[in-house]
Amino acid sequence: MTVIEHIEKAKGETQFSFEILPPLKGEHINSIFENIDPLMEFKPPFIDVTYHREEYIYKELANGLLKKQIVRKRPGTVGICAAIQNKYQVDAIPHILCGGFSKEDTENFLIDLDFLGIKNVMALRGDPIKSEIYFKPETDGHAYASDLVNQIKALNKGQYLDEELQNSSKTKFCVGVGAYPEKHMEAPSLVNDIKFLKEKVENGADYIVTQMFFDNQKYFDFVDKCRSEGITVPIIPGLKPISTKRQLNIIPHRFHVDLPEDLIKAVDQCKSNVEVRQVGVEWCVQQSKELQAAGIPILHYYSMGKSDNIKQVAFKVF
Ligand code: FAD
Repeated sequence: MTVIEHIEKAKGETQFSFEILPPLKGEHINSIFENIDPLMEFKPPFIDVTYHREEYIYKELANGLLKKQIVRKRPGTVGICAAIQNKYQVDAIPHILCGGFSKEDTENFLIDLDFLGIKNVMALRGDPIKSEIYFKPETDGHAYASDLVNQIKALNKGQYLDEELQNSSKTKFCVGVGAYPEKHMEAPSLVNDIKFLKEKVENGADYIVTQMFFDNQKYFDFVDKCRSEGITVPIIPGLKPISTKRQLNIIPHRFHVDLPEDLIKAVDQCKSNVEVRQVGVEWCVQQSKELQAAGIPILHYYSMGKSDNIKQVAFKVF
């Protein structure tokens, strides 16, 4: 089923969904299943699987010269999504990026997903790779997620890159896109960022999932602004329980979100990360309950490969 169909079917009841990371290269698929198993009792309508681009490393050769090498730390998502759908009979949503993909690669990726019965995709630009300051698309790739949405929606109309194709079948992908209640790090302003979010929706995005936030007011204000700009699709909030003291610095740096003073104070007072995890769970439970009370159709949790604290949150909320 598509995400939109899941929302309609739930008839106003708030549902639980989550995102997982592919395991590090060399790890078995069971490491994913071990994370998913404890969360299945909360009946997620779908599970997202993130996509991780290749990285470049430079190895010094015996002659002192440097050799550029491409390293892929995590496997791709097509096989993982198929395995999840097959094992749990739940929709798996692969994330698909502009970065590292030519338009041809994108089309082939989508064809594989379609063959496997995958109904939803999350279309994202991707971040710059570590060796770049700014995002650089492939020569024949997309520069923005809105262009990627265009390509997916064209495939839904049966428009393939190869114009010679006759009677090509139409895919039926439901497309999600990302959004940032505290604005994307590169955007000059939230207003400007929402303008481009609207472009993604006008190009055919069916729903939106937000970056994590720790102050619900930021989400509510963001939704109001999107609605007043004419964005009407569901805006699914992304949530993450804090789990270590270090995240007080890592999260603002990496995700460009603010942490509320009360949360920082509570984490600061913890004597161990066991205590921090409890503070993180309680904070996330309060956020979740308020969003649930506001009638939000789906709460989406970033598991970051660990399910125990997400389970504790879900147990208290769903
Ligand atoms: P875009 O929508 O393309 O926007 C990027 C920037 O360009 C924004 O500042 C926007 O305002 C601006 N912009 C957009 N269109 C235009 C235009 N036409 N002209 C000028 N400026 C424009 N990353 C991964 O690598 N793998 C993942 O699996 C992954 N999952 C994610 C899931 C969610 C829910 C979210 C919110 C993010 C995820 N990311 C992931 C991170 C994401 O790839 C980065 O945040 C990336 O920097 C931006 O992606 P985007 O799709 O929002 O980009």
